[in-house]
Amino acid sequence: MTARILIVDDVFANIRLLEARLTAEYFSVVTAMSGPQALDICERGECDVVLLDVMMPGMDGYEVCRRLKSAPATAHLPVVMVTALDSPSDRLTGLQAGADDFLTKPINELALLTRVRSLARLKHLTDELRARATGSTGLGLPDPLSLAAAEDGLNGRVLLIEDRVNAAERMSAALQQHHVVDVEIDASHAVRRLTDGGYDVAILSLNLTDADPLRLISQIRSDNNLRNLPILVLTETIEDPRINRVLDMGVNDYLVRPVDRNELIARTSTQIRKKRYQDRLRENLRASMELAIVDPLTKLHNRRFLQTQLASLLGNANARGAAVSLLVLDLDHFKQINDRHGHDAGDDVLRDCAERLRHAVRSIDIVARFGGEEFVVVMPDTEPFAAQRVAERIRASIETVAFSVSGGTKSVTVTASIGVATTSVPGQDGDALFKLADAALYDAKRDGRNCVRIAA
Ligand code: GH3
Ligand code: MG
Ligand code: MG
Repeated sequence: MTARILIVDDVFANIRLLEARLTAEYFSVVTAMSGPQALDICERGECDVVLLDVMMPGMDGYEVCRRLKSAPATAHLPVVMVTALDSPSDRLTGLQAGADDFLTKPINELALLTRVRSLARLKHLTDELRARATGSTGLGLPDPLSLAAAEDGLNGRVLLIEDRVNAAERMSAALQQHHVVDVEIDASHAVRRLTDGGYDVAILSLNLTDADPLRLISQIRSDNNLRNLPILVLTETIEDPRINRVLDMGVNDYLVRPVDRNELIARTSTQIRKKRYQDRLRENLRASMELAIVDPLTKLHNRRFLQTQLASLLGNANARGAAVSLLVLDLDHFKQINDRHGHDAGDDVLRDCAERLRHAVRSIDIVARFGGEEFVVVMPDTEPFAAQRVAERIRASIETVAFSVSGGTKSVTVTASIGVATTSVPGQDGDALFKLADAALYDAKRDGRNCVRIAA
């Protein structure tokens, strides 16, 4: 996978060195020689991964990272800090600034390429979700990007899979300051526990005595519910060849023993922050897809969904020479119900009415709230006589049982008028069918309401 890598360094020779290695692997490279210049490039969305030198005059790398991670437009950009020294306190400052990873100079080529590849992959996934989330801002949903940038990654639920009791105790004591931690010493129980548990991150030892951690990772990654769960692994040594292997399998990060407690805390929070960020985007996507086809008050289909479905349903029926019936229902004197009992009581009636409609029809029929107090039912393969019977049944189901409103403290008698139409000529479109049914509904209103009329 190719990606645009931004190299930020105040020393030109360092830039050239990294640039040569990355372009040899077909990454495209953008460069900046100062913090402010790097921020500009990132804000304009011109890169996918940032390699950020720590020591720079003026604004240092930590500050650049902090600013990137706190702005909604750039919070999702993966940042790798490039440090000359590798002391735990440098790493900690970087992690606290929100850095996603570290490389130590002189830079190991394999480490560089695996990190950049895996972060670029993550960035492309997040971009996809962001693009859809941004498309939903007009729908009145909370802005997922600002919410996500404000996420601190604290108060998570952690499952530590570790059979060395002492190590497990030490790590869980450190993590418990910020998270709820469970320890599982038996790896064979780990997947089931993760599935049941609502965890935000799993921390897994690569040195289990009785289990193969790679098998466990592959089980987690192939489980539908755990596919997006962040996994951190613990390794004895950075030389362990399994590290690259597990990163390729979708492990998100690793820690080398003896585990520095602050690094453990910081890396765990980073994973939780990222997961919540993506969960928010996914939830936003789901909600916006639902909003597009579902009426929020009654959970029936909305008008837009009805119109698209009706068109394809009619085309289909037409090809088979089958009849489609459509009914339009309008509640009688609904305005008076609102006026006498309040708007909330009116909403209760609409919800209950939706429920009665659902019960009165077959599962292949489409029930939609067309607007206000008006509902539409589309019935495939239904002749006029059968449609009239359904309409009559619906009308009766509304009239005979009073509607309970205001938390069950009051009950209201409601009636409805219904117009019914059935396709009669081949090629009749949805609009024409609806107009016929609507005209019949008008007849029903004119004839005194609480009745069914069939289109001429
Ligand atoms: P008719 O028998 O002629 O249909 O009289 P009506 O009062 O039902 O018809 P009208 O179209 O005058 O009034 C419809 C009312 O429905 C007015 C509007 O305030 C109310 N309404 C529309 N949407 C909602 C809603 O979502 N909730 C509530 N509570 N009322 C709604
Ligand atoms: Mg009405
Ligand atoms: Mg109306």
